[in-house]
Order: sequence, then C-alpha cells, then structure tokens
Amino acid sequence: MKRPSVWLCAALLLMSFVFSPNPMPVQAETRFAAIGTGAVTGVYYPTGLAIAKIVNEKRRTYGLRCSVESTGGSVFNVNAVMSGDLEFGIVQSDRQYQAVHGTAEWTDMGPQKGLRAVFAIHSESHVLCASENSGIGTVPDLKGKAVAVGNPGSGQRGNFIDMLSEYGMTYDDLGRAEGLKASESSKLLQDGRIDAFVYTVGHPSAFFKEATAGRIKVRFIPFDRDKIAALIKRHPYYVPAEIPMEYYPGALNKERFVPTFAVKATLVTRDDVPEDMVYAVTKEVFEHFEDFKKLHPAYEHLTKEGMLQGMTAPIHPGALKYYREAGLME
Ligand code: GLU
Repeated sequence: MKRPSVWLCAALLLMSFVFSPNPMPVQAETRFAAIGTGAVTGVYYPTGLAIAKIVNEKRRTYGLRCSVESTGGSVFNVNAVMSGDLEFGIVQSDRQYQAVHGTAEWTDMGPQKGLRAVFAIHSESHVLCASENSGIGTVPDLKGKAVAVGNPGSGQRGNFIDMLSEYGMTYDDLGRAEGLKASESSKLLQDGRIDAFVYTVGHPSAFFKEATAGRIKVRFIPFDRDKIAALIKRHPYYVPAEIPMEYYPGALNKERFVPTFAVKATLVTRDDVPEDMVYAVTKEVFEHFEDFKKLHPAYEHLTKEGMLQGMTAPIHPGALKYYREAGLME
C-alpha cells in the first residue's frame, strides 16, 4: 500500500485544527495588568503574587497576564493606579477612604473620583516596635526618641500620626521622625541607629519574623485600650485588633496578645480599566477561594463575605458583574 504523503498528513492535521470545536474561547492578544504591592517581606507582595498566580492559570482564556510590582505601599499604589502606571493596587481600606474623600495625602489633589474598589483581603494591624535598649514601653516613652514613621508612600505613616494625636503628641515630640521604609527601619534598629519603627501589615508576616529574630531584641508596644476606642470613634475606618504573639516568639512580649487597631488590605483599580479584565481577576480569585486562602497564613480568617467589606470607592462594574452572577450582591 502506498504510504500517505507528508503533505496529506499536514493537510489533515491543519483541517482538524480548523474544524474542531474549540472548547474554550481563547483571546488572540495578551494584555498585561500590573498589580502594585509593597515591600517583598510584607504581605501585599505575596498577595499580589497569589492573585497573579490564580489569574494567570487562565491567561489564554482571558488573554490577560498579571504581573506584580514591589512598591512603597498604599499611598504610592493609589496614585500609580490613578495615573495609569498600574492597573491594580493593594491599598489599606483607610487609604481607600481618604483617597475617595480627598483627605490626608489627597487634600491638595481632591477626591480621587476614578478610583474603583475590587475586593478586600486580609486584615492588617498597626505595629509599633521598639528595641529593648531604647527603654520604650509605652507611646509617651517615644518622646525624644528616633522613630521611623514610615516612608511617604506607605499606609502606616498616617496610622501612626492618628494614634500619636490620641496621646496629644505630634512628630515634634519625637527626637527624630525618619521617613523610612519598614525594611530599612528594621535594619537601622538592629544597627542601633533608631529606637522604634511602625508598620501596618497582615500577620503573621515574614517581615516581623525577621525583625524579631535579630541580635537586638524588640518589643511590640501596646496601645492603651481607651486610646484605641477614642481613635475608632474619630476615624470610622479603624477597628480594634490584637496581635497574637505566638506568631513572633522572638519578641520580648510575655503577654499573648498586644492590643492595637486594624484596617483591611483592599484591591483597587481605575474606572477606565476594562470591565472584562476586572471581571476576570474577581471571578478567578473568588472561584478559587480555597486555593487562594492556602497561599498565605495571613488569610486564615478570610471569608467571601469579609472580602466584600471595607470598600469605600464605588465597586468596579467588572467586579460587580461577578458578584451579581455569584449571588454575592444584589
Ligand atoms: N500596609 C502597608 C502599606 O500600605 C503595606 C503592608 C504590606 O506590604 O503587606 O504601605
């Protein structure tokens, strides 16, 4: 029998591609979406990676590829999303609120009208951490001390100012207020060049595991419960919280929980980011919720309902489409 020619085989193969029913619509072009996060040892960065990992599994279906950028944090991310440098950003819920209302860092720029909410993620609590030899045990002890108050693009900077004012204090009461990133602060504290620093982050975090394992021992400074209550009364976006010290056995604290206040990490985007792009990100994270939850220990208490709380910007139509389809919203 005559063997079928190579050409015949190739033609048959080509026809099978052309005429076979395509089970999944595949987008011809790949679009890119950058997610702004925070320092690599924080929780925003692994959160960006977790979202990207889940969405990128379907990159051929949606023609969408997410990438993750390490940034200065919440304030930077809001501004980079608004300027079009990023499609998505992870930001503290209090920063989302302030950007929408044109307060705090947005007082001069005014309300960020194009900012859109996608979903909320883990809760983040504010930590004031001091070295053993600084002698700091309470907030008033910060008087005259060198404190890293957070880099200008960070979320924590505003949280610290808010809490200081509950104690009737400002930066002027500190010996020195340094605008350093959390990663730099921890190193400088270990070098004995600063006494304390602040960071608003999810727990447990790689950052505090490292910061509590250095040669110089550190203590998480508790905030007074009446000051926390007064802070929450004044600012609707804060909630009371406790940091479980079992996460950080290297810290000097003997108590099991350190009282503080918290916000939520939220994902934001801009009104002109395409609906199908935001839909894809929302749908994939929610439909793979259990897989997502396994990607970081700070997601332990995450629920789908909780992921719909803490948003003040209007919800992006792409996210809303999914929430309605899934029966999570009216
Ligand atoms: N909450 C911090 C900020 O907004 C970032 C925390 C993190 O990277 O996990 O700057």
